[in-house]
This record gives sequence, C-alpha cells and structure tokens, in this order.
Amino acid sequence: MNNQCQFIKPDKTQCKSHPIKGEGFCFTHHPEYKQKHKEAVLRGGKSPKKHYGVNEVITVRRSEDVVILIEKTINDLRQNKISVKMANSIALLSGVAMRAFEQHKKDEVDDFISGKGDYPY
Ligand SMILES: [Zn+2]
Repeated sequence: MNNQCQFIKPDKTQCKSHPIKGEGFCFTHHPEYKQKHKEAVLRGGKSPKKHYGVNEVITVRRSEDVVILIEKTINDLRQNKISVKMANSIALLSGVAMRAFEQHKKDEVDDFISGKGDYPY
C-alpha cells in the first residue's frame, strides 16, 4: 500500500504528505478536494486573530481611553478574538501609556510652578 501522495511537484519530486485514507493524493493535491482545500485556506486567512485590529484605529490620550481599551481587550480575549500574547502586549503598553500620562501631569505642574505654563487642572 502506497503511503505517500502521488502528486509530482514542479521540481519533479513527489509530495511527501500522507494521502487521504484509501486515496492516492493528500488533501492538498487530491483533485476532488481542491475546492475544499481552497476554502479551508481562505477560512484560515479570515480568522479573527490574524485580522484583528487592522481596520480599527484607537486613540489612547487619556486614562479613560486605557480603561476602555482594557475592557475591550478582556472581552476580545474571553471571546477568543485575540491571542493571549496580544492581550499581554496591550496590557504592557497600557501600563506605559498610564505612566506617560502621570509624567505629563507632573510636567504640567512643574511648568506651572516655574511660571512656564497655566494651572493644569
Ligand atoms: Zn500531496
């Protein structure tokens, strides 16, 4: 019993994948499964993880924006729309943003005290 796909690739070597049970070709090279394979590839490409955030631009200018972002991230993670890795990156960057806001506020207070700026509140 031949346990190798019979497809011959353009470089004249034989495909090394296992054929579908009882068939001569693997899922990729079986003529009958060609359309199904195409659809599977397309579905993979459309998975929310890969396309998450591409069309969604968010603004993070205030601590309130960070709260909204974290809330959205928690929901996206719970619904498996984003990876744990992405959620961790967002959490890390949110912390950076919060520290930047704090520093900005301190700078404004310093400027006010030294007479360079208006009262920041
Ligand atoms: Zn094959």
